[in-house]
Amino acid sequence: MQEREHLINKKRIVVKIGSASLTHKETGQLDLDKMERLVRILTNLRNQGKDVILVTSGAIAVGRNTLGFLEKPKERSIKQACAAVGQARLMMVYQKLFSEYNQVAAQILMTKHTMLNDISRENAQNTFNELFSLGVIPIVNENDTVSTDELDFGDNDTLSAIVTALVGGDLLILLSDIDGFYTDDPHKNQDATMISCVREINDELLQMAKSTTGCNLGTGGMATKISAAKIANASGADMVITNGDDVRNINRVIEGKEIGTLFLAHKAKDFNIMDYIRTKQYN
Ligand code: GLU
Repeated sequence: MQEREHLINKKRIVVKIGSASLTHKETGQLDLDKMERLVRILTNLRNQGKDVILVTSGAIAVGRNTLGFLEKPKERSIKQACAAVGQARLMMVYQKLFSEYNQVAAQILMTKHTMLNDISRENAQNTFNELFSLGVIPIVNENDTVSTDELDFGDNDTLSAIVTALVGGDLLILLSDIDGFYTDDPHKNQDATMISCVREINDELLQMAKSTTGCNLGTGGMATKISAAKIANASGADMVITNGDDVRNINRVIEGKEIGTLFLAHKAKDFNIMDYIRTKQYN
């Protein structure tokens, strides 16, 4: 419990929510109740004087649903068309909900180019900082409409860790469709137990992080979450994986409750986010 107490003092928090957590399993339509609660919680954190970023998936899932694709599209042009439709819809809902609480929200769409190009990266960083000082909540997603196979982040777990490092965030919360990090796949192995706190990402842990590919919506499995933890922890941020079924878990994490899996920060000497991006070490 002791290692959780400091979470209450976090000042710059990045929350990532995946497509599976945002939509109803039965229909693939947005879970508006959950989104509303999420928006209220994030606004309330902002009202406490914390800087908040939301990294949201859902562009492709919402677009897919709107355009009537039952299966996850494989063709890139279809995925990009879905993202173009879905991102606008997703933002429309977020804007509506945030405005109910008088909270200004902004959209930032990034590709790997944004990070690879020194000027773009610096511009993105400056924009985030300006938005924080204006009290705005940035809503981030990958710019799926224009990103390419060779040069995409691939998943929002990684993107959210990169964003955390870019803005000097001190806490990253990944809202997932699982309670936390397990010693094995809990759907297949009844003896799998959840690990409450990870101090070091070692080979044994990497071994446990089998990629969960069963989900029809998002792209991230446990492996991408571990990669995200590597980046976030080395940048100096703690990271928590918790279940997005109940978005009040965000508050529980920040209150220091023993929920989900906490990956403790251990800032790497001479940390440089570009080392991770250029060598794609996060994969
Ligand atoms: N950027 C993708 C989307 O909004 C999701 C990526 C992910 O699920 O990690 O649809």
